[in-house]
Amino acid sequence: MSSNKDIIPEHIKSYPTPPFERQLQPFPGLACKLKPRPDHGETSYKGNNRLAGRKALITGGDSGIGRAVAIAYAREGADVAINYLPAEEEDAREVIELIEAAGRKAVAIPGDIRDEKFCQTLVNQAAQELGGLDILVNNAGRQQFREHIRDLSTEDFDATFKTNVYALFWITKAALEHLPRGASIINTSSVQAYEPSKTLMDYAQTKACIAVFTKSLAQQVAEEGIRVNAVAPGPYWTVLQACGGQPQEKLEQFGASAPLGRPGQPAEIAGMYVLMASDESSYCSGQVWCSDGGTGTL
Ligand code: NAD
Ligand code: MG
Repeated sequence: MSSNKDIIPEHIKSYPTPPFERQLQPFPGLACKLKPRPDHGETSYKGNNRLAGRKALITGGDSGIGRAVAIAYAREGADVAINYLPAEEEDAREVIELIEAAGRKAVAIPGDIRDEKFCQTLVNQAAQELGGLDILVNNAGRQQFREHIRDLSTEDFDATFKTNVYALFWITKAALEHLPRGASIINTSSVQAYEPSKTLMDYAQTKACIAVFTKSLAQQVAEEGIRVNAVAPGPYWTVLQACGGQPQEKLEQFGASAPLGRPGQPAEIAGMYVLMASDESSYCSGQVWCSDGGTGTL
């Protein structure tokens, strides 16, 4: 044991550890009803003008990782449009207020990204209302556990692939019509792409698709001066896990197997999305960046 003084900030020291209370919300769930409430950086994230004047569209920007990224981007000086499902309006309102409180423009565009036409409308509306687009964060995702392939319906499989893979393709394709040189695309993959859980068969496959999509696209658009990266989170404390993402016994022990002994809080991963969007990472593209509490497996 080191005798050096502990310099971990108090808010990080107080991040919750398992066991967690069992709780089940209907999909897509609300972060404002998750117990304990996640830290999305509402009071902890300090900006430093690293994205001054930039214009970002973030899918799933109402809650969890997307919300933490929206807060961070706004505090770094970016105007931000968020997409989410209409049932998540309560969460989205909080995010809109936080973006505006940072002195930035906030645009709310609810709608279901499993629809190709809506994906095109979403991108065009975001670009129009923001006055351009130079950061795209494909972060929305569907995760519903199923014990066995026999329990996995065609409807489940289709909904997971439409949300996590098709929408990424449709939104990215539409966004390329707006993105200038220097723009950045950031996709949310997962450690599931590399170490799939047996109960997340469809989800894990989509996260592998996202990692590969990222690597292909990065090579295609490099000559246009556009960078494409993915982030692979490990266990993060978000409502995704409490609305069908995990069985109750796993939710209770969520994050326990991470070497840091707890799940990450969304605020702890926002910095990776800031770095990937900013010019500080101008030579990084086609890569998957992992944050999983210390396993070292990626
Ligand atoms: P979250 O539930 O807070 O965010 C997911 C968002 O996806 C929802 O808020 C919702 O707005 C959006 N969404 C889902 N279906 C949609 C649809 N049909 N149309 C429009 N929007 C839709 O949970 P989160 O954990 O912050 O998830 C964000 C991303 O992180 C997801 O891609 C998820 O797969 C990924 N991820 C999460 C974890 C984790 O442990 N929480 C780990 C690895 C990867
Ligand atoms: Mg949500």
